[in-house]
Amino acid sequence: MKVTFLGTGTSQGIPIIGSNHPVCLSNDFRDKRLRVSILVEWDSYTYVVDCGPDFRYQMLRSGCSKIDGIIFTHEHADHVAGLDDIRPFYFKQGDIPIYAHKRVIKSLVKRFDYVFETKNKYPGAPGVITNRIKNKPFRLKNLEVIPVNGKHGKLQVFGFKFGDFAYLTDMKQVKEKEIEKIKNIKVLVVNALRIEEHYSHFNLIEALNFIKKVNPEKAYLTHISHLLGFHEEVEKTLPENVFLAFDELQITI
Ligand SMILES: [Zn+2]
Repeated sequence: MKVTFLGTGTSQGIPIIGSNHPVCLSNDFRDKRLRVSILVEWDSYTYVVDCGPDFRYQMLRSGCSKIDGIIFTHEHADHVAGLDDIRPFYFKQGDIPIYAHKRVIKSLVKRFDYVFETKNKYPGAPGVITNRIKNKPFRLKNLEVIPVNGKHGKLQVFGFKFGDFAYLTDMKQVKEKEIEKIKNIKVLVVNALRIEEHYSHFNLIEALNFIKKVNPEKAYLTHISHLLGFHEEVEKTLPENVFLAFDELQITI
């Protein structure tokens, strides 16, 4: 399985428009972060987790020419706003399967009503096949995917376990029963927003404590704000098996 980090930044991305913060002005390519998303590939299959406002550029940058579906963690704009840009895939492949909690689907229907239109649909509008997911394993082709339920402030959010790889973003609380699903996994990706506490995201300490509980071989941090600091400096402070993810990083599991 190959995982590509399409974006590793928090909701505004890094740099933030108009910001003079040193991290926003950094010349290190690892300090330039699009909105969070990953590409997960195995055999001949390609799935995207979330589809934020940078989706179009992320698909171009990664050279992705086919997707088998999009899996959504939750409905916040930085995770769904790029849905219209599935059009090139739709024109080539037909309706694109999406997988999400029923509340997330409801939100997508509201934001992108024309995508879900069944009568007199505009010919250029993309189409999707909706698949509701619950906190129960589901199949993507030949792989069983296990949702990991968590809380993002007051909002329910799903992380996902794909074999020996788990991707959890926008988490603040994860119950013990859910952590059990991913204990001792090979590779864990989890959100770490910044140093200071935040009401709906793990900060660095919380992410590191969570990683200790899960006990993966390796962990990568994502959904990073400029307030976490420079990539190079922060990474030096991390435990041996923990790394900061950066855009375009690829890992093989
Ligand atoms: Zn987010």
